[in-house]
Amino acid sequence: MILLIPCECIIYMVCKGICSRHKAMRPKDGGMRYLKGQKRCQVCQVFIYWRGSYCPCCGYKLRVNPRNGKFKLTLRNKNNNKIQHKESITNLLD
Ligand SMILES: [Zn+2]
Ligand SMILES: [Zn+2]
Repeated sequence: MILLIPCECIIYMVCKGICSRHKAMRPKDGGMRYLKGQKRCQVCQVFIYWRGSYCPCCGYKLRVNPRNGKFKLTLRNKNNNKIQHKESITNLLD
C-alpha cells in the first residue's frame, strides 16, 4: 500500500472520501468546533473527529487550534507526530 511510505503520503494529498466516515457535526450550541475536539483538514475541507495529528483520509496535517493560547502544547506534541502518524495509518487499515 502506498500509504505505508510516509513521504509519498505527503506528496499525494488528495481526499479519498474516508473523511466522510469521521465527519464531525456542527456543535448544536454553536460553540467553537476546535474546542469540541474537532479538527480541520484543509485538503478535504471538512471537520473531523480524529485523535491523531494527520488526516486519516489524505494524510495532511490537521488544524487543531485556530488561535494562539495552546502554542506550547503544539510544540510539545511535535515530537510525537511520527508516532501519531503511525497510529493514523493503523487506524486507517482497520
Ligand atoms: Zn477526505
Ligand atoms: Zn484530509
